[in-house]
Amino acid sequence: MADEVKKLKICIIGAGMGGLACALALAKKGFQNIEVFETASNLGFVGAGIQLAPNMVRILDRLGVWDEIEKEAVILKETSIRQGATDTELGHVSLDHVYSTYGYYHSVGHRASLAGALYNGCKREESIKFHFSTALGGVTSFSPQPTFTVVPRDGEPYSVEADILLSSDGVKSTTRVEMMKRIGVTAEIIDTNQAAYRIMLTREQMQDDPDLLALINGQRATRWVGEKRHIIAYPVSGNNIYNLSTTQPDTNFAAAPSETYTTKGSKSAMLGVFADFCPLIQRMLNLVPEGEVCEWKLRVHSPLPTWIHGSVALVGDACHPTLPHMNQGAAQAIEDAGVLGEVLALLPDVNPESINKALRVYEGVRKERAETLVELAAASGRAMHLGEGKAKEERDREFKEGKSVPDKWADAQVQKTIYGFDCMEVAKETFKEEFDKM
Ligand SMILES: Cc1cc2nc3c(=O)[nH]c(=O)nc-3n(C[C@H](O)[C@H](O)[C@H](O)COP(=O)(O)OP(=O)(O)OC[C@H]3O[C@@H](n4cnc5c(N)ncnc54)[C@H](O)[C@@H]3O)c2cc1C
Repeated sequence: MADEVKKLKICIIGAGMGGLACALALAKKGFQNIEVFETASNLGFVGAGIQLAPNMVRILDRLGVWDEIEKEAVILKETSIRQGATDTELGHVSLDHVYSTYGYYHSVGHRASLAGALYNGCKREESIKFHFSTALGGVTSFSPQPTFTVVPRDGEPYSVEADILLSSDGVKSTTRVEMMKRIGVTAEIIDTNQAAYRIMLTREQMQDDPDLLALINGQRATRWVGEKRHIIAYPVSGNNIYNLSTTQPDTNFAAAPSETYTTKGSKSAMLGVFADFCPLIQRMLNLVPEGEVCEWKLRVHSPLPTWIHGSVALVGDACHPTLPHMNQGAAQAIEDAGVLGEVLALLPDVNPESINKALRVYEGVRKERAETLVELAAASGRAMHLGEGKAKEERDREFKEGKSVPDKWADAQVQKTIYGFDCMEVAKETFKEEFDKM
């Protein structure tokens, strides 16, 4: 990489999975001037589990942070999809082939361990500077030099000029709104009318119940499905925590619209939502202490016409928020980062025109793939949430036959598309041809 390219000032908004992975991917490529602006005062990640699929792990490994995450991760050997009401198994999929096919296991972990390892990786890089408690106020220019205002919590707003701005400021992205305004498009946030409870049970809470102990000691992701609702659960943190993530119709947020996407929920409301699920589920939900029920609102937005304007690019949930049913939201944000590292490192010069072209190569590698997965997650959710009737009978027959799995993340053909695609390699291989075409 030419010296002038290495010295480009690259600013990143947001230190979520997408922002941290971008900063690290760029530093690993040799960029010397990376600044990250984050609203929060520190990286206090909400406690919850996260699936660490091979396409994500491949990139984390290249960024040098997988070893740290792997220590606590649990390797999944199987997934079982079960009727929520009766606990009878609808389908069972072995995940044994994943390692031999893709070179990495399908693991699960704690969000804090993923984010913590990415942050530790960033802290080891001298080229990355963090500005916590500092929010993006607005973007005043997208090119030739992106210029934006930031608002420190305890100080006066100031203006920052960069050579490249990567905005990974999440589903409520300020940059996305401003970018779409500039190009005359509205891309409204879509209410999915779904919400999620995220629950973490400790080994101590589960150890006196042999059925629950078997779950936390296992290497299985279990999905219990019912009409308009499901629960997916797996052990994390070295089998010391059992993570449950639910999806149900959003009645609480709908009743009390608020700016926030998470809220303390009521335990009795949660028990009510899953009242007709089997006793095993009831026993787990009953272990959640009163006052510790956390509910997340699930939001997406319509596909954007572009993720790029001038020398500014959107990253992660800012441009492809998804329902969680494919377990790919963070994985896709990390793919964005891996590809951005590749294309920016291949910049032939520092002209804003070249920067825009390189960013459009990023969009070319990433946009269609990410949007396909967003659609697949929605479709998979619809299949999981079927009520009694012909469609459900057909789905259950498919589960039984096992040729294709209606819970799409566990389907071998779908896994091939997701895990078998090395986005960084593709970006590197196709860069020159795509760049020259722009
Ligand atoms: C219930 C549920 C389960 C999930 N399970 C999985 C899973 O198993 N596997 C998986 O891969 N993904 C999963 N996801 C998705 C995943 O959590 C997200 O896709 C991922 O966190 C997106 O990362 P991001 O960096 O793009 O955005 P975020 O994580 O939202 O980060 C955005 C960051 O930007 C900061 N920010 C926002 N506005 C500003 C501003 N104006 N100025 C400065 N900073 C700002 C925020 O404080 C935040 O730190 C799940 C999501 C949900 C809701």
